[in-house]
Amino acid sequence: MRTRRVRRALNLLLLVAACTLAAWLGYRAAWEWQLARLHDAGRQRLVLFARSLESVLDKYEHLPFMIGLHKDAIRLLRDKDPALVPAVNELLKQAQAGTEVTQFYLLDTAGTAVASSQQRLIGNNYEYRPYFRQAMAGGAGLFYSVGTTTLVPGCFRSRPVRDGDRIIGVAAITFSLNGVERGWAESGERVALVDENGVVVLSTTESWKYRALKPLSEEVRKRVVAARQYPEVQIRPLAAEALDVLPEGVVVDGAKFPEGRGKWLAQSYLIGGPGWGLMLFSDLREVRETAVLGGVGAGFAAAFLASLFVYGRLRKKSRRDRREAAEALKRVSEDLERRIEERTAQLSNANQQLHEKVNDLEKTEAILRKTTDDAVQAGKLAVLGQLAAGVSHELNQPLSALQMLAGNGVTLLEMGETDEVRGNLQAIGELVGRLGHIVGPLKSFARKSPLELVPVRLGAAIDNALMLLSAVTARTPVKIEVSIEPPDLHVLADSVRLEQVLVNLIRNGVQAMMEEGGGGDLRIEITATSDAGIVRLVIRDYGPGFSADTLAHLFEPFYTTKPTGEGLGLGLTISRAIIERLGGTLRAENAEPGARFEILLKDATP
Ligand code: ADP
Repeated sequence: MRTRRVRRALNLLLLVAACTLAAWLGYRAAWEWQLARLHDAGRQRLVLFARSLESVLDKYEHLPFMIGLHKDAIRLLRDKDPALVPAVNELLKQAQAGTEVTQFYLLDTAGTAVASSQQRLIGNNYEYRPYFRQAMAGGAGLFYSVGTTTLVPGCFRSRPVRDGDRIIGVAAITFSLNGVERGWAESGERVALVDENGVVVLSTTESWKYRALKPLSEEVRKRVVAARQYPEVQIRPLAAEALDVLPEGVVVDGAKFPEGRGKWLAQSYLIGGPGWGLMLFSDLREVRETAVLGGVGAGFAAAFLASLFVYGRLRKKSRRDRREAAEALKRVSEDLERRIEERTAQLSNANQQLHEKVNDLEKTEAILRKTTDDAVQAGKLAVLGQLAAGVSHELNQPLSALQMLAGNGVTLLEMGETDEVRGNLQAIGELVGRLGHIVGPLKSFARKSPLELVPVRLGAAIDNALMLLSAVTARTPVKIEVSIEPPDLHVLADSVRLEQVLVNLIRNGVQAMMEEGGGGDLRIEITATSDAGIVRLVIRDYGPGFSADTLAHLFEPFYTTKPTGEGLGLGLTISRAIIERLGGTLRAENAEPGARFEILLKDATP
């Protein structure tokens, strides 16, 4: 985690460094490029300025020469005839006319003006001027200086005047370079003309004039003082630090110059003849601005490229991550599929086992049902067995009556008492009917019939049960009170099985009360009511009720409190099983006094 953060910070640092480097390189490249352009443009302008200056300088070069050839001029200088002065003065005036020449004069070999286009100059001595000396030496003089009498700066050109081979004087002109200077000023450039002494003589910046690029040597100083070349004797340096007289394409600090600031590109051009230098100082502000733009552009371009690179890498990474995620997902889904298959196999296996278990259960249930049916049948037979004594007693009386009537009938027949015999036979018929009445319910009760759920009239079922029990109840003082509300109440049941339950419950009640010794309120109440589609059938006796132990085990098979041979302990077990198969419930409770059984069955009253 930490190394990751460090690596990220390093990457960021690297990125910033790369952008900075790009910005610096961009700045440098733009700087060099712009500087080269400025250099080229400067050189072109410089050449242009130099050419115009040279053309002005050259323009009047021939004038002193031409005058030197004029015979009047030659005669004046050779013969020194003052009468010639006005004519020569006129000649000089004419030569000057139409030109930018300000003065035109002839100097004798001593340097004294003997004739001039301007009268006031005559008599002045210019022996100290270099242009006089140059011409006297046989050359063409060129000199820039401030006029000693006029105090106007100007350019001097001179030529020797010859008489044959002999130099007899000098012809000289003065002209202004103001036009050239104006032209520079109009161009808006910072231009300076430096003379052979390294002193600025013309400049678009006025305050630069007569200042030296570097301190003058003693020899030069003496010479310029002697020639009275500049208005000031003390020549001050131009810049705070010395500049080469002819620098070429160097960057200088403008702030070190009067009225200057910023950086400048200094360029120069050598004006061959007089050994002057024309200097151009170009402001580098635009170069710097372009360079800064270049730097910023390069920096931004680098940042853009870097962000493209980072974006590309991030995309690649995210693609890789996506691919990995997809692969992981595929793996997981394959694993899931495999597990689902395994689970499905396990489930179908379990399902199979469940099927088998269900089959087993169904079989078991069938066996159980059969067992229950058998048990119900057994229970019935047991009840029948117990009823048998009562039934045989019940049968005994009509049977002995039958026997007696039959014996009587034979005797009466022998006696020919046919009417009596008829009477006996009728009685016999009635008795047989009564016997059938007693045995009929027993037969149907004993029959093993399949369960059949149908509406059963509750009154009929209770009557049948009481009929079956009549042999038992007839021998007791127990009263059985039946109340069915409404009387036509039907329940969904199987009549034989319902009767079997009723027989069990009523018989138990009678037995319980009789066990007590037959005293007290010997009564069994059978009530039936219906509510919300459910019939509540209650059999309540006024016997001893249930002990706690009995109540706890009442419905368990083979639970009995009766002596061996009398009770099997199956009556209530079977009764509950029957009621549950009819879709109802059977429960028991103490009624204080007595016991109370409650059967709930579906109401099926039409
Ligand atoms: P059995 O009648 O053969 O004993 P049952 O299952 O019918 O079997 O009855 C179980 C026991 O429940 C009886 O032995 C008796 O103790 C008790 N019992 C049943 N009915 C009553 C009742 N109405 N009053 C008191 N005890 C009863």
